[in-house]
Amino acid sequence: MSPAKTGQPDRRQELMVTPPVSVLELDDMLTRLRLTAIRDQLDNLLEEAARKELNLREALAWMLAAEIARKDQRRIAMAMSIAKFPFVRTLEGFEYEAQPSLDPGQIRELATCRWVANGDTLLLLGPPGVGKTHLAVALGREAVSKGYTVQYVSAMELISTLARAHNQTALESRLSQYGKSKLLIIDELGYLPLEPDAAHLFFQLISRRYERGSVLITSNRPVMEWGEVFGDQVVATAILDRLLHHSHVLTVRGDSYRLREKRRSGLIKTSSAVSTIPATGKEGSP
Ligand code: ADP
Ligand code: MG
Repeated sequence: MSPAKTGQPDRRQELMVTPPVSVLELDDMLTRLRLTAIRDQLDNLLEEAARKELNLREALAWMLAAEIARKDQRRIAMAMSIAKFPFVRTLEGFEYEAQPSLDPGQIRELATCRWVANGDTLLLLGPPGVGKTHLAVALGREAVSKGYTVQYVSAMELISTLARAHNQTALESRLSQYGKSKLLIIDELGYLPLEPDAAHLFFQLISRRYERGSVLITSNRPVMEWGEVFGDQVVATAILDRLLHHSHVLTVRGDSYRLREKRRSGLIKTSSAVSTIPATGKEGSP
């Protein structure tokens, strides 16, 4: 029914003819629309738009870009805290010269996060101190900044959480919690002996994520030894069968970055030559 027929004023017309708008009114409208970046910087944005002689359409686009930038920044900050990375490590902070067994081109390709989009697995294998956790965190951060949900957990914490949940018949909810994110990073598998149920719990988790979400695992043990790591060769094979189906495997055989300084000062000897195994999904001899 038209406004004339209802006797109501035309709301659309009213909205179009309200200037001058008070600062408070404008502030309220921007708050209601949750355009808080525009609200907080309104004077600066308007001054800058006038200085740049932007037309109305350009000025609107420019202000909305400021709003989107802040929303993206907040979303990323929130997603980083949800990911629970143990510390900040970035790809920019990674020295390739210190780790010649890694191909920077391959890391750059992984940094595009196509493997995350495809739900692939990434295994980072190698001895302690070669930068596996550094790369895992840095690639996780890349994934967050590209809009993917990421969760970081150490292998020990993951298994003990699942084992506890299993005892309390809360396994299902824990599994779905670890199944939610697009990328699950499981760090340092193989350093410490796992609980007796570990293989079965891990298998359930990997099965659940299989072809749905990505998994990044770092380990100091080659996959051939995962039977020993899990204490169950049959289940370890089933886990690897799924993990290696769509996978990238980086094996780092360099020297420990942690011990680099000590080695430089001659306190300890240099380890044997560095070598690379291409990402074939197959492991070489240790
Ligand atoms: P890993 O997980 O393989 O045991 P980390 O990633 O924990 O090794 O590396 C040990 C320390 O050395 C970390 O502080 C990490 O940031 C640093 N590090 C390792 N490799 C590099 C590198 N190539 N460039 C810069 N820092 C590195
Ligand atoms: Mg590590």
